[in-house]
Amino acid sequence: MNACLSFVSMLKKTPAIEKKPEQAVSFRTLVPQDFAEEDTSCSASSSEINQNHSRFSSLSRKKDALPPVTSRVTSLLYEAESKATARDFAKSVELLEKATTLGSACAAAKLGLVYHGGLNSTVNPDYASAAAYYFLALKLIYMIPNNKWDMSLLLDVIAGLSEIYRKQMCRTEDIDIWNTGIKAMRHIESTLSDPSMTKFFTHRDNQKCKAARIHMNFCLAMTAEADGEFNDALNLYGTCKRIGECNFATADKLVKKAHTKIRILERQVPKVKPVCVSCDFEPKELSDIWKLLVCSKCQVVAACSRECLTAHLATHTKAEK
Ligand SMILES: [Zn+2]
Ligand SMILES: [Zn+2]
Repeated sequence: MNACLSFVSMLKKTPAIEKKPEQAVSFRTLVPQDFAEEDTSCSASSSEINQNHSRFSSLSRKKDALPPVTSRVTSLLYEAESKATARDFAKSVELLEKATTLGSACAAAKLGLVYHGGLNSTVNPDYASAAAYYFLALKLIYMIPNNKWDMSLLLDVIAGLSEIYRKQMCRTEDIDIWNTGIKAMRHIESTLSDPSMTKFFTHRDNQKCKAARIHMNFCLAMTAEADGEFNDALNLYGTCKRIGECNFATADKLVKKAHTKIRILERQVPKVKPVCVSCDFEPKELSDIWKLLVCSKCQVVAACSRECLTAHLATHTKAEK
């Protein structure tokens, strides 16, 4: 019950942040610099990303001085880190919450991790609150111009969410949380699947992008499967398969799982439409469906009679010549 309450209050908090137009504008320009400052403690980020960020920040920042909100977020994140090191977890969480309300996607992501795994006796693991903070992180990331997205941070958030979807959440009981996340993931996926987005990515960022997309498409596929939309599920698992392995253990496992899912689903989805391929006759009676002849050559179409099947078979021999 507590979990639900905190989730609802999180959701209520988010639009409130967005409402003030001047704040929304400042988030756009401030959050990327927040990433640039905080990159090393955000996640296991490689030096090439840091280089990327310094390139971006040197382009976007004309003066050395940080805007007040950015330096505030940076020092809050730094303080939170040192409080955690000193095992003052309650204070650390409080500082992260403050940084989150200032629009830091990194702080929101960290809180997601904190609630996901729990934090000593300070925070009990609670997947609903974890999901709410992950959603907030995604929202804040989405407010940043997408050429400045921190792929390490994004992958951390998506991988955390994907675990909640696969192992903890229940499609029917948690339907509100579930659908909120699916909506957010659809947005992120449509941005990441655009080739112009990844054109200038480093190899490492490309791998992270692939991993994040595998996680998201797998969650979307699970949703479609649970809703009985088997063809959509097949397509989405197919997308996971097409993206392929990317050297991130969990994502690579999901690609293998997608292969298995496709094999199982293909058995459930009839490939042959019950319509005559030659004359378009669509039988309504079960006995007529029973009489349909499946083409032995392509095994994907049916015909209503010998004549219609012969006509269809002729198209095969023609194509072969
Ligand atoms: Zn026919
Ligand atoms: Zn055929």
